[in-house]
Amino acid sequence: MKPLQVLFLFSLLFSFGCQENQKATKKTETTYLTNPKKIIDLSHEFSKETIYWVTAKEFELDTVFKGDTGKGFYYSANNFTTAEHGGTHIDAPIHFAEGGQSVNEIPLEKLIGNAIKIDVSEKALNNPDYLISIEDFTNWEEKHQQEIPKGSIVLLETGYSKYYPDKVKYLGTDLRGPDAVKLLHFPGLSPEAAEWLVKNRNINAIGLDTPSIDYGQSEYFKSHVILLSENIPAFENLNNLDKLPENNFEIIALPMKIKGGSGGPLRIVALLNN
Ligand SMILES: [Zn+2]
Repeated sequence: MKPLQVLFLFSLLFSFGCQENQKATKKTETTYLTNPKKIIDLSHEFSKETIYWVTAKEFELDTVFKGDTGKGFYYSANNFTTAEHGGTHIDAPIHFAEGGQSVNEIPLEKLIGNAIKIDVSEKALNNPDYLISIEDFTNWEEKHQQEIPKGSIVLLETGYSKYYPDKVKYLGTDLRGPDAVKLLHFPGLSPEAAEWLVKNRNINAIGLDTPSIDYGQSEYFKSHVILLSENIPAFENLNNLDKLPENNFEIIALPMKIKGGSGGPLRIVALLNN
């Protein structure tokens, strides 16, 4: 091979190698969402067991047809009815903020993206009236040496999903109706911490593994009002938060697109990098 040819071959290999490297770099940046190592389902199933607010209509599934049609094919179809707020679901801003976005109007950018998890289960499992505090957020920040990243979806793990669907353990009561509201006991986010979040950090959405972002004994639902007034949707009755790391994962949370809805059933998954 002549020296010029060798040089040409080398430069070809070199440039090819560079392209490969560039591709490799790009790949690690983009495979996260398109090729996650693990996908965790954060939704509970909808069934007779599904937990609803004590005053809300529960889930019903009625068989329309199930079986052999006699025409050479099998057929199955059902009707279902459900309140918007029950099981794993989303609260749209309009749920507690007049003029706020309804569930079909929530920008997808708020529902898909980077997430963090704050684990308060040690405290919450010992106190059914536990209120997640500002300190719980600042502890996470100190531990991870960073502020809650801008645009995060913030998930709060109380550990309560392990009681689901046992109503007495999960809600504090298995009674239903308006009189049962005062019997509700489960952890939630303190209004002070909700206020701190909207004033000092910039988050896209929030979620937790109890029936409500406000704790069971809440009378005025202040954390709902504070968050939803800032167009921060809330995910409730989440599952499997114990299977998530505390950061470096992504969420896809896609609710049923009910026009004008104040919320709706939510299929939510976490995409893990490792
Ligand atoms: Zn709700």
